[in-house]
Order: sequence, then C-alpha cells, then structure tokens
Amino acid sequence: MVDTIMMPQTHIAAIAVEKAYRKGEHKVPVLLGVDIEVRRGEFVSIIGQSGSGKSTLLHLLGLLDGPDVGEVKLYGERIDDLPQHSRDELRNRVFGFIFQFYHLLPELTVMENVLTPLMIRHSAWSYWKSRKAFQEQARELLDRVGLGHRLGHKPTELSGGEMQRAAIARALMGNPEVLLADEPTGNLDSETGAEIMDLLRNLNGRNDLTIIMVTHDESIAQQAHRTVRLAEGRLEAWVEAA
Ligand code: ADP
Ligand code: MG
Repeated sequence: MVDTIMMPQTHIAAIAVEKAYRKGEHKVPVLLGVDIEVRRGEFVSIIGQSGSGKSTLLHLLGLLDGPDVGEVKLYGERIDDLPQHSRDELRNRVFGFIFQFYHLLPELTVMENVLTPLMIRHSAWSYWKSRKAFQEQARELLDRVGLGHRLGHKPTELSGGEMQRAAIARALMGNPEVLLADEPTGNLDSETGAEIMDLLRNLNGRNDLTIIMVTHDESIAQQAHRTVRLAEGRLEAWVEAA
C-alpha cells in the first residue's frame, strides 16, 4: 500500500503546457506539451540548448507569462487562470526570481535593491512604518549571502558574483516558497559559479526552499536533486552521458 502521508507534496506543477510566439506572420512553437511536477523543498534543474524554451517555461511557472494551452498549479490549485491582481500578488509573494544578468537597478545601492520587492508590495505608508524591520531583514539576508560589507555599494562597484548574491538576497526578501533561477551562473567564471551553486544548495537545504533552475551547463545541472531536459518542445528525464 502506498503511504500517502509520507509522499512529499507536489509544490508547483505545469500540466500539458503549450506556448508559441508570433513572429510577424509566423507562429513559432516553443513548448509542445510540457509536464513537470516539483515537490516542496526539491531542487530541480532543467537543462536544454539555447532556444529550447527554458526561459519560456520558467516564465510560465512563475506567472510572468501565461500558457496558450495547459495549466500551472500551486499545491494542486490552478493559478495561471486567476485574475491579474491575484497573479500579481502570487508572483510577488510566492516566487522569487534570479536571472543571468542579475537585473539590479544601477542607480540604487545593494541595500535599496534588496528592499525593492517590499516597496512594491506595501503602500508608501505601510512601508514607512515598517522600514526599520525591513532594513533589518535586508541586512540579515545580505549577511547570509556574504554581502554584509557591501550594503551601500552600487551594482557597478560589485563583481559578477557579488551582483548575483545581491540578486539572490533580493529574491529572498519576500520569503518566497519557490525560487526560479534562469541561468544564474551563466555570466560567471566557473569558480564564482560554483560559489553561487553552493549558496543555492545551502538555501534549499536550510530553508526548505523549492528551487527550479534552468541552465545549459551539465556540470551545473547535476548539482540539483533531479535534472530534466527540454528538447524539441518537450521534457524528458535527463541521463548523464557516460
Ligand atoms: P532558452 O531560454 O532555452 O534559450 P527561450 O525560452 O528564451 O529559450 O526561447 C525559446 C524560443 O522562443 C526561441 O526561439 C526564442 O527566439 C523564442 N522567443 C522567446 N521569447 C520570445 C518572445 N517574447 N517573442 C518571440 N519569440 C520569443
Ligand atoms: Mg533563456
């Protein structure tokens, strides 16, 4: 008998999702029916060549875009068809995003960049009332990612690895349940990339943070609990080359 109580809970899932983009007259199919189920606390990597649709899939999972066909579910509840304001709210509270090129705001300090998700979430007044607590939380997160000594620096004064650490702290600011990472080491040398992977594995292990990471790099992908491969619009189990 299957012990359902011991079965880890499905956290986030895509079911039979299809997505095509329109290029002028042409329709460019990208995802042709993709299924993925990720359990709570799991660290899954999605490997695939450039242009295979990795970013597209990550955007669908994080509600940055909607599927043409299929469903995205959070704890078994469909979320991709919710009204815009509910999707905005979920995106802000449930998901954290990190990107290959960090997407930090250049005119803000590291500290201010990390605080931006809370400025967006709260009204000006409610942010102002709680700003001390928020700043404390930002400082703790920046300490945790190893940037406690760079609070007042601007992104241009940081190395690539430091910029990604700042972006990770920003992604964690709202206490997300799911971290979506799009080629997080893609712009870093291998040593710095390994440090970022250590940090992600650490966050996943310590905080029960579900992580879905896309990459084209096999040695990076292998560091997750499980790897799936996106090719020709579909997901398949990835088997390491002998
Ligand atoms: P990957 O992240 O694996 O490199 P993407 O998901 O970015 O792949 O892109 C998959 C395909 O979809 C590519 O051919 C890309 O050119 C196309 N594509 C992605 N985003 C758009 C868009 N907004 N408009 C038109 N085509 C797009
Ligand atoms: Mg991409």
